[in-house]
Amino acid sequence: MTQVCVRGKELGGAQFGLAAMPLGDSWRRHRTPAAPGGSEIVVPRPNYVGMPLLAVIDDRRVISSLLSDREWQTLRADVRSGRQTVRLECGTPAYLRTSRLGVRHFVHQYASGCLDHQKETGQHLFAKHVVVQAAKSAGWSAEPEARGNGWVADVLASNGERKTAFEIQWSTQTRAEYERRQARYAGSGINGVWFARRERDVPYPRHDLPIFHMAFAENGLTVTVNQSTMTMADAVVALLNDRIGFREYVANGRPASLHVSCVDYPCYRCNKVSMIWDVDRETIQGPCGTTAEQHTGTIWAKIRPEAEPQILRRANIEAERIGLSSATLGQRYSRTAGGSYTAFSCPNCDALFGDWFLRSHMLEARTAGAQLDLMVPAGRDRISSPHWCVDTGSGLCANSAG
Ligand SMILES: [Zn+2]
Ligand SMILES: [Zn+2]
Ligand SMILES: [Zn+2]
Repeated sequence: MTQVCVRGKELGGAQFGLAAMPLGDSWRRHRTPAAPGGSEIVVPRPNYVGMPLLAVIDDRRVISSLLSDREWQTLRADVRSGRQTVRLECGTPAYLRTSRLGVRHFVHQYASGCLDHQKETGQHLFAKHVVVQAAKSAGWSAEPEARGNGWVADVLASNGERKTAFEIQWSTQTRAEYERRQARYAGSGINGVWFARRERDVPYPRHDLPIFHMAFAENGLTVTVNQSTMTMADAVVALLNDRIGFREYVANGRPASLHVSCVDYPCYRCNKVSMIWDVDRETIQGPCGTTAEQHTGTIWAKIRPEAEPQILRRANIEAERIGLSSATLGQRYSRTAGGSYTAFSCPNCDALFGDWFLRSHMLEARTAGAQLDLMVPAGRDRISSPHWCVDTGSGLCANSAG
């Protein structure tokens, strides 16, 4: 069967000024190259395009990605002259070829009958090759198209007892299918790691399903791990060396910063202006660069961050600096709140400042930019934010288990 195919590139609207062309069949007829003999005719493909990196030569398993130039040339000469026979794992005889992206691999001499080697694209082949070489450079052994109990891994990396299967997920795959295949790996004591081409395949970070988005960029393959984009080779090495790890929390060994806003507030009863303050959130930045944020917006609370000794001390210093008294913070009873809570009151006449009024006053001040912002390192030591933590030279976030 002969397929006629206009190359995707040439269908690109920009290239031919598609917008300016009449739509419908006329332009398509115009652009479809005349067969036969046109360069657009695609040679019929075998129905089978698995491109293994692994072959068997005299009972020896040979990985094309790991051969030197010299070894590859020699092997090719030997196969051509009939001195060597190369077979694939499925038993099919094979020859040697270099892909358009420069990847040396093996090709089925005939396509029919092989169920072992799945169809794959040149990019998929290239990605396998990158992973094999990266795993090797990390000091692990790497086997492409590795087979086990109910699974075939694109690349299986091993280091003693530790085994990681890398999967290049070129086509989209349902979450259930990821989970099913991940469970198969887990059943064999293997940690599965996925590089997915479809960004929507990447889940909210979870430790039991490492899926990272990969892209084919002009200068090679990239992988994005928690907002840092790196080459696929670097990602593989970092994953194998535990420089990428799952963390439930962002933590850097120091307390989170409390974000405090101070504003002046005129007493509704005596008109005396005092300073009130509000802690609206705390943030922490991990050594990986991830920032986690926790909002602290409760009203009528018994314990509130504004009354923390360090915040209180800092607020008093600021009030004095700007020439105001701090409002008084203490336990008050409120019928509206249905009990006692920590509240601000006037330092002059002791009038209670209701939280609702303070909140809207604070909101107005923030909108107008009339507040004084402080950052006080007095927050919690970690903030929940599940992420794939990347060591970019400053280590990983402190482990939540610690
Ligand atoms: Zn095969
Ligand atoms: Zn007052
Ligand atoms: Zn981190």
